[in-house]
Amino acid sequence: MEKKDIEYTLNEEHLKKFETFGRYYETLFGLSDWGIYYRLPSCDEDREHIVGNKAFVCSDRIGMTASIVLSPVWPLTEPTDENLRDSALHEVLHLVLIPLNSLATYRFSVNEEDIGTEVHRIIRKIAWAITKTTGEIL
Ligand SMILES: [Zn+2]
Repeated sequence: MEKKDIEYTLNEEHLKKFETFGRYYETLFGLSDWGIYYRLPSCDEDREHIVGNKAFVCSDRIGMTASIVLSPVWPLTEPTDENLRDSALHEVLHLVLIPLNSLATYRFSVNEEDIGTEVHRIIRKIAWAITKTTGEIL
């Protein structure tokens, strides 16, 4: 099997670890005003959205609730503790940036792809700094 064909299957144990990391970062970033749930994909919409992603956030900014959905299949990336932590941090940072993301989209009618690019640039910088200072949670 070529490296490009490698797929890793994730299970409830991975989800449990992913949630533990996510909860840690929720606390770190003060997201206590959100109701956040962690789950595997549960409907066709989830399964469509998850393709090519390790996880994604599905949120209701008005109701302040969000689901962080973990993909049950990771192509190429092994779901090690470090990779699960990094993925959880990435998704929690999406939640941190949702107000800014929404404001930019609706107020300035900026291209959604441009906003996504900038959001990911910010996420990478914050994630790098955070993992340098909180590596002990692994
Ligand atoms: Zn992202």
